[in-house]
Amino acid sequence: MHDLVAHFRAPKGSLTTQLLPADAQTACACCGLAGATLTVSATPLCLVCAPAYAADEEQIDQHAALIWLPQFDQGSLSRLLRAAWTALLVCPVGQPTHTHALTVLDDLSARRETALEKIGTYFPARLRRAVSTLAPHHILKRQSAASGLRILPVAAWREQHSDALSTLLSNRSRTP
Ligand SMILES: [Zn+2]
Repeated sequence: MHDLVAHFRAPKGSLTTQLLPADAQTACACCGLAGATLTVSATPLCLVCAPAYAADEEQIDQHAALIWLPQFDQGSLSRLLRAAWTALLVCPVGQPTHTHALTVLDDLSARRETALEKIGTYFPARLRRAVSTLAPHHILKRQSAASGLRILPVAAWREQHSDALSTLLSNRSRTP
């Protein structure tokens, strides 16, 4: 399972997104679905998953938040988000499916409060700064411990990439 704390100890400046060639049909390393258009540290990622890995992006605290969600790994969370974002895209406002998708997103967003209780912040950049100060023996101790920290991409990310996300979500919805 992806350990956010271990990942965030990557060398400073290495966790930014880069574009893959436009015609890439590469599978995302996080959610496993086709349509990766970005890389972070040479790992191919789709637009739904990318904010979970791109801790050095300038706007990361506006685009993503830490949540506490031990039930799901990051890839499962992305697939749930994909379903909710697709529903918002294709279902008219006021339809039950549209309302349900908003409820799912609100529930996930509210889990920022638990991250705040557990580690004192829900800003990814702060976690990124803090983990660099952990001693190696703290990381060794983590090897057997499961963390419930996940990254939730938020509305600002969805809005900034709305065209590319629409293409991604529409293409995936046509996949059998
Ligand atoms: Zn993905």
